[in-house]
Amino acid sequence: MPDEKISLSDQIRDKLDAGALPSVLPEMMWTGYGQGNPCDGCGQPIHPAQIEHHSPLDSGGVFRVHIACFGLWVAELRRSRKADRHTRNSPTLRDVIRRKLDDGTLPLERPEHKIYAGYGRGATCDACGDPILPAQVEYELNYPDQDRTLRLHLGCAGLWEAMRLRRGLDPAF
Ligand SMILES: [Zn+2]
Ligand SMILES: [Zn+2]
Repeated sequence: MPDEKISLSDQIRDKLDAGALPSVLPEMMWTGYGQGNPCDGCGQPIHPAQIEHHSPLDSGGVFRVHIACFGLWVAELRRSRKADRHTRNSPTLRDVIRRKLDDGTLPLERPEHKIYAGYGRGATCDACGDPILPAQVEYELNYPDQDRTLRLHLGCAGLWEAMRLRRGLDPAF
């Protein structure tokens, strides 16, 4: 069933190819709530109830995206870097997250409580399995009823959100 959510990753890949999205991760991304400005990923406004990630651009402008758009963008950056390294056959981060959602390693439901953001302390990311370094943003999702705490990189959390939204679930962020 074609809908906007299915084409969002294509839209982001096209923008990246066309140079309309930065091809390197900014050194710093600030997190806050939207102010109704359009997202550089999907073009839709980032509403005040939604998380916005933004960073200043060298051109003097501001780059801003929804967390799900951020996750898809990071996944595309990783994918293009991997292609350069001739490791095309290894599963992409999206494949890994999809499999983890299917087998229950990652939850489909959103946490009932507030999601915490901070800097990494070397814990393993529940999505990609890499450590979350002190220079990286870490999201902590608590599921007290299941006695579970998930720790995710910012990009992995965004991708998890994007894949949940694609399945028609309510936004977690
Ligand atoms: Zn967006
Ligand atoms: Zn990760």
